[in-house]
Amino acid sequence: MAHVEPAHLVELALGNATPSEADTEALRHVDECARCRDELGVLTRLVTAARTAQLVDLPTAPPERVWRRISGDLSPEPNTPGPPPRIRDRRRRALLALLALATALGVAVALRCLRERSRVVRGGVAP
Ligand SMILES: [Zn+2]
Repeated sequence: MAHVEPAHLVELALGNATPSEADTEALRHVDECARCRDELGVLTRLVTAARTAQLVDLPTAPPERVWRRISGDLSPEPNTPGPPPRIRDRRRRALLALLALATALGVAVALRCLRERSRVVRGGVAP
């Protein structure tokens, strides 16, 4: 069997779909193939990290007093600008977390595709 397609590895890592015959065959291949096993491991860790991320893990603006002190150190003017607005809406913050997850997954799949392409361009597909 050829290596498991990157999109299929992502589906396996997400574990959302009802297992199919193709999944069983892919997992059998993953058991025997170190390369696919490593890539599924990376994707699974990425999905786990994204699913366990807390809202407190999201980047936020520094507290007002810290911002004032930094601004004061950088600018001698008395009318220093205030900090950037905080994202107070929990749903917006959760949406940002989901966007970060989608971006991370997209990057992982793109890296895998680029790696595959570079192997083919160099004159052959690795076993
Ligand atoms: Zn493989």
